[in-house]
Amino acid sequence: MSTHPRSKKRGRWIDITFIIIILALSSLMFFLLMLSNPAKKEKEVVSANLPTNSKEQINQSDSVYPGIRIITETSNDEKTPYAIQYPQSNVPEFNDIVKAYTNNMKTLYLNETDYLNESNIHRSGELNISFEVFQHTTGYYSFVIHSYMNKSGTNGLTETRTYRLHNQSGHMLTINDLLANNEKSLVKLATKVREYILSDNELMPYLLQEQLEEKTVPTWDNFSNFSLKKDTIEFYYDNYEIAAVAAGSKVVSIPLEDMNEIIADSFKLPKVAIQPPPTTSGKENEIPIGGIQTKDSVVNSLPKVVALTFDDGPTPESTTLILDTLKKYNAKATFFMLGSRVSFYPEIVKEMHEAGHELGNHTWNHLDLTKASSEKIALEINNTSDAIEQATGTKPTVFRPPYGAVNNSVRAQTSLPVVLWDVDTLDWKYRNANHLLTHVKKHVKGGSTILMHDIHMSTAEGLDAVLAYLQGEGYSFVTVSELNSDAN
Ligand code: ZN
Repeated sequence: MSTHPRSKKRGRWIDITFIIIILALSSLMFFLLMLSNPAKKEKEVVSANLPTNSKEQINQSDSVYPGIRIITETSNDEKTPYAIQYPQSNVPEFNDIVKAYTNNMKTLYLNETDYLNESNIHRSGELNISFEVFQHTTGYYSFVIHSYMNKSGTNGLTETRTYRLHNQSGHMLTINDLLANNEKSLVKLATKVREYILSDNELMPYLLQEQLEEKTVPTWDNFSNFSLKKDTIEFYYDNYEIAAVAAGSKVVSIPLEDMNEIIADSFKLPKVAIQPPPTTSGKENEIPIGGIQTKDSVVNSLPKVVALTFDDGPTPESTTLILDTLKKYNAKATFFMLGSRVSFYPEIVKEMHEAGHELGNHTWNHLDLTKASSEKIALEINNTSDAIEQATGTKPTVFRPPYGAVNNSVRAQTSLPVVLWDVDTLDWKYRNANHLLTHVKKHVKGGSTILMHDIHMSTAEGLDAVLAYLQGEGYSFVTVSELNSDAN
């Protein structure tokens, strides 16, 4: 019984087709899985060492902290939003340690808030990681990383971690180094810290005596969480480490002058009277409270104009590419910036302003302001406005709350118009240059305010096609304030 050669050939052909279909289906399934689960596939926003294509002077003036860059990751997920900011340097060991810490926090948060994704739970969590940077005269940077994690929409946990780096030598300073590995100095330090804590009147009502005893035993580990500022050394304690939660995280600040007999020679300060820092208390009274508000978003049947908005930047590579693309189409846009990033990259903000784009305030650390105190809200907004003014000479003209989360307490802390959006490109989720155009095509209409994020290279790369399409459809590009005034 022999098979006809033609039918044998056809049989193999069917096999091959079948295999191709299976392969295509499985890769499609894989792709869909990746889309549905973007949090598991984070891509960090590296703001250095990428090919540069414009404005050499800006890319070279990387950051106002030489050798240090700031990484921002945000997720606008409805149930499990987060904003994470951390420093990176030229020292791989430091980078790995800091990244491991923030990644662990993120993984913990996403695992422990996963239950919120059940459709009948109407609460959301929040993870906010931010940092401060201080420079000592010895060239050491101290990074103080603050984490706030809220797993249930009720009480949050705060945590402070510190890292110290000499960027030129790559040395990471420990408390052992600071005390020249001297056990006697360690005992003296323990006594001193204890004295400072016990003399803190604000802390006393919340002090947990047993915990304090434990935390001031002279072990190197007990004093490893510290920062070295210009004139002081500060030790950090999380909730319940030395005080009940009402006191929150606690900082114990000791003048370096008072540490001279303990610390290694190279860190000693000359014994001179330390000038108190210039007081800024007068300034806070000038903050306008409860100003005039305008509409949150404008979705009118307007002529063909759109307001392009970019949040969470600036970032050296992606923001400058976006500025180049906007220039190519003679388009004006609005940038809602984080004060933390403005303070790192003021040159880009200046460039943005000079190109005629509108400057927007998006808070300092991307907190959900509806869960913050009035004082915190005011600080987050006003510090950011100050940083933008310092970079450009002008104050921002519009405000966008992180996650679009706004209520009357938030509105009461700023006179800036609150601007939301009506077209969310979800670029933070898809991180795909082609998807940007697909999404805009589907949802844009006259008068739209389009939300994008200039911390993602995929957004910067996808923008050209979006602008080409919109221009082809007869749209022109305006700032959000122009859009608002057109509507009136
Ligand atoms: Zn944002």
